[in-house]
Amino acid sequence: MQLSETVRLYLTKKQYMLVSDMMTTYIATVNRLVADAVDGRAIAKLTSKDVDAYLPSALRNQCIRDANSVFTRYQKACRDADYRNARGSSHGKGIKQAAVPVLRRPCCYVNNQNFKVNGTDIEFPVMMDGKTKRISVHTKMTVRQKAIFTGARLGTMRIVYKGRRIVVQIVYEKPEQDAPAGEGCVMGIDLGIKCPAVSRCSDGSVMFHGNGRRNKAMRRHFAAKRKALQKAKHPEAVARINNKEQRIMKDIDHKISRGIINTAKKHNVKVIKMEQLANIRSTTRKSRKNNHSLHTWSFYRLAQYIEYKARLAGMTVEYVNPAYTSQTCPVCGHVHHANDRDYVCRCGFHIHRDLLGAINICNSTEYVGGRDARHAA
Ligand SMILES: [Zn+2]
Repeated sequence: MQLSETVRLYLTKKQYMLVSDMMTTYIATVNRLVADAVDGRAIAKLTSKDVDAYLPSALRNQCIRDANSVFTRYQKACRDADYRNARGSSHGKGIKQAAVPVLRRPCCYVNNQNFKVNGTDIEFPVMMDGKTKRISVHTKMTVRQKAIFTGARLGTMRIVYKGRRIVVQIVYEKPEQDAPAGEGCVMGIDLGIKCPAVSRCSDGSVMFHGNGRRNKAMRRHFAAKRKALQKAKHPEAVARINNKEQRIMKDIDHKISRGIINTAKKHNVKVIKMEQLANIRSTTRKSRKNNHSLHTWSFYRLAQYIEYKARLAGMTVEYVNPAYTSQTCPVCGHVHHANDRDYVCRCGFHIHRDLLGAINICNSTEYVGGRDARHAA
């Protein structure tokens, strides 16, 4: 599986200028090539010689590859829009067209042939006095990152701003483990606010993960701080606070997902089931969990962490229809809403409400197509 690690670059003043110029030129070049392609010029077979840009030839080549994939995605979006318009025309819906994509965020991509991790330094090419020159930039890496960069097969390196700093994100390949032997168990995971995650295994075992009350207190703490800083007009301090909150929340989600996968390993789980969350961009579908966009984002991130850790452990992840998972009686199938902590069914079955979802998800066979999952570091 492809994962990525982020490392901050400690550039000299001169290096900073060279690299930031290169990022701006890179994005402008990709945009120009995409515009050419939209105008009907074939860009698929261009070589670095055909691209007039003040960039090392390796990066000009990468621009062509990036422009090609942006253009391919645009063509697909156009086809999808045509298809939707053809279907929707009888319903009197307006014609929607795909917009020509324009990349705005300065960045550049260097493929693994053209950068090198040397101890804690990273070497890559830039333009200097009209010529390509490799520079060696100092970074700070953790011991774990150093081990990854020397041991794993590396992919593309992306250079990008993070605030005013420049960081690199390096893709690497992490091998996936084999699926557990034998029959194996199924685990259903219910994500929630009061309890961040409840796991229920087909062998009957149940586990609560995380601390919803503490998360809520933390969010409130950061919201209050943010408000005070906004009032005092400290935008940089606000950004710092936001970054810190994000870091802490990500760390919590990493711990919860690790705990879930460790539990799953202990119970020889082969398949993990979660509810399919509504598309983050669409606001049409609403369920118990998708009412607040803020919560949707945090559910989405935790689900992604669980998914990629599960796949690394050789488990399969399946998504099931979220409808009625918190209302259906697992014994008789009757559907009704629980008003307090206890879910009591007319058949006599009763259970803590937070557990019901995990049981129904574990038992559900209403699969909805796998979501394309990319790990966001
Ligand atoms: Zn019942």
